[in-house]
Amino acid sequence: MANKNSNPSITPKTKKVVIVGVGIIGASLGYYLSQRDDLAVTLLERYTPGAGASGHSFAWANAFGKDPREYHTLNRRSLDMWYRLAHQLDADIGIHYGGEMRWESNPQRATQLCQRIQHIQTWGYPCRLITRDEMLALEPHLQPGNVLAASLSEADIHIETDTFIDVCLHRACSAGAVVHSETEVTGFVIRNGSVVAVKTADAEFSCDVVVLASGVQTTELASLAEAYIPQQRSPGVVIETTPCVEILHNVAVIHAPPTDENHQHLHLRQLADGSLRIGQGTQEGINRDDSQQHADALLARAKTYLPAIADADAIPTPVGYRPMPLDGFPVLGFTKAVSNLYIALMHSGVTLAPLVGEMATLEIADGAQVDWFVPYRPERFG
Ligand SMILES: Cc1cc2nc3c(=O)[nH]c(=O)nc-3n(C[C@H](O)[C@H](O)[C@H](O)COP(=O)(O)OP(=O)(O)OC[C@H]3O[C@@H](n4cnc5c(N)ncnc54)[C@H](O)[C@@H]3O)c2cc1C
Repeated sequence: MANKNSNPSITPKTKKVVIVGVGIIGASLGYYLSQRDDLAVTLLERYTPGAGASGHSFAWANAFGKDPREYHTLNRRSLDMWYRLAHQLDADIGIHYGGEMRWESNPQRATQLCQRIQHIQTWGYPCRLITRDEMLALEPHLQPGNVLAASLSEADIHIETDTFIDVCLHRACSAGAVVHSETEVTGFVIRNGSVVAVKTADAEFSCDVVVLASGVQTTELASLAEAYIPQQRSPGVVIETTPCVEILHNVAVIHAPPTDENHQHLHLRQLADGSLRIGQGTQEGINRDDSQQHADALLARAKTYLPAIADADAIPTPVGYRPMPLDGFPVLGFTKAVSNLYIALMHSGVTLAPLVGEMATLEIADGAQVDWFVPYRPERFG
């Protein structure tokens, strides 16, 4: 692809940045970093872009359940940045607007929903309680059953991560970045406390800065550079369906109550091709069951609320592993052990991708210390 630096009058690319891992975070960083004329950006991916958590995600961008307030605000800022990023990329990046609608049919959970809405309204989150009539006006296909409380969080969106990653990589490559798929990083050459090269099975990539955007593998890779970035194991399953008629006309995401007390909540979104993505529990819920039986049962529960999808079939998807730092919060910044090794590890990476891409670029390219990242520095783990 064309290199915008082919004109010799433009600043030479003097600083080499290697990004390890091309999920939504690596792709966002690849895009933002490649917009800097003096940076030569290389992205290394052991499988194919999006093969990790990003390709298994429910991909709901939100700050609804994020606590404490500082973390809520970080997610909220990033959620708002999706709109600017979409405008900047000026392409279909797979965003579905319309907000998140949820409801509860059990008195205790209905009270909790009302309290949560009141609480995050005081934080300025654009959400409100709605009536059953408003729910049905928004989504006429819905048969919600007993509704004791319902809400709409209007700023929430969902993202087709593959589409977004493709657009970012295309823009990055147009600006001179190079992407190597099926290229696994196996180690680093470290001299005088800095990584001077990133090693793969059959090559070495010299570098001035290395960014680990390697998802669950970040812990292992960081340990090769003496950095301690602990994670918890967090498996989750989001099933797919065959394409359906358009069932969500206005909202991007729905969260429905358990169909009975033996089951968890379910969440559902519809992609541009008509297929659905359905998960259960919360965005952090542990689930290892990727069987056809589980997929069929989950879809059957969704059909009780949306009879219009009666003809849909469930397609099981393999378990996805969330990058999940030990304390649940992002890890962002250069390590103390190796001064040019930058960590970008987080859950809610779909929500946080625009903010992390843009703000980490200020730290990597300009040497800024972004205040918003201070609570999330790698050295908190010791
Ligand atoms: C079931 C599930 C539901 C989720 N729901 C949501 C949600 O609703 N909202 C939300 O915001 N977030 C959600 N998440 C979390 C979100 O998907 C992740 O935080 C995000 O995808 C992380 O992106 P990433 O780029 O950091 O990691 P990944 O997408 O995992 O990318 C890391 C990449 O690094 C590559 N890699 C690893 N090791 C190497 C190596 N040695 N050499 C080269 N490449 C390497 C991997 O192959 C992978 O492609 C969910 C995740 C899961 C699994």
